[in-house]
Amino acid sequence: MIPEKDLKIFKVNELINGFNANDIGDDHLFSGLETPMKKDAFKLSDKEKKQRIAHLFEEIMDVLGLDLTDDSLKGTPNRVAKMYVDEIFSGLNPANKPKITLFDNKYQYNQMLVEKNISFNSNCEHHFVPIFGKAHVAYISSGKVIGLSKLNRIVQHYAKRPQVQERLTNQIAEDLKHILGTEDVAVILDAKHLCVSSRGIKDESSTTITSYYGGKFGAPEKIAELQNYLKD
Ligand SMILES: [Zn+2]
Repeated sequence: MIPEKDLKIFKVNELINGFNANDIGDDHLFSGLETPMKKDAFKLSDKEKKQRIAHLFEEIMDVLGLDLTDDSLKGTPNRVAKMYVDEIFSGLNPANKPKITLFDNKYQYNQMLVEKNISFNSNCEHHFVPIFGKAHVAYISSGKVIGLSKLNRIVQHYAKRPQVQERLTNQIAEDLKHILGTEDVAVILDAKHLCVSSRGIKDESSTTITSYYGGKFGAPEKIAELQNYLKD
């Protein structure tokens, strides 16, 4: 028998090693950028996923001691399953990626375009409680422009996953760069984490800001210009 304390150390080492070497390979950025998914993540249909999640969530409620025959509670496992698959975690499935059409930059507009205060709701992947806030997205056209509401849709898509805010920021930025065919993309997220405000440290007032400045947005004057637009 391994003593409890050594077992803990072993588990920590396993975690650290697991994160470091073989699985990650050389490309650290990209392994951090992708949401960690199983290879067979889409083997089950959405319908099968909902059935399994409902069953498992019923177990959680049962273990917590809740009476699942109560009128108010009996529909909860199905509701949670449907919400997970169809709504708040629907961004895990690449099939749900928004369809994007680009247009020629007919107006020859070559300054930055900023879409600010895009509301988003996500969930922390460590506690499965909400993260919510505002996203500000900017780009400089390389010849193509995107419908404005598509910027919102891209933000919402990546938010609908269990997330960490740093990865959410980078996933939005990388997808925008890919879609728009330019490095000149900036993304700023300002969000509140319920795992910080409603549990643990219980800080009600703090928000977390993350940013991505690509290409021309790396220049101090561009950052200053963008920050100026974001002032209320
Ligand atoms: Zn958390």
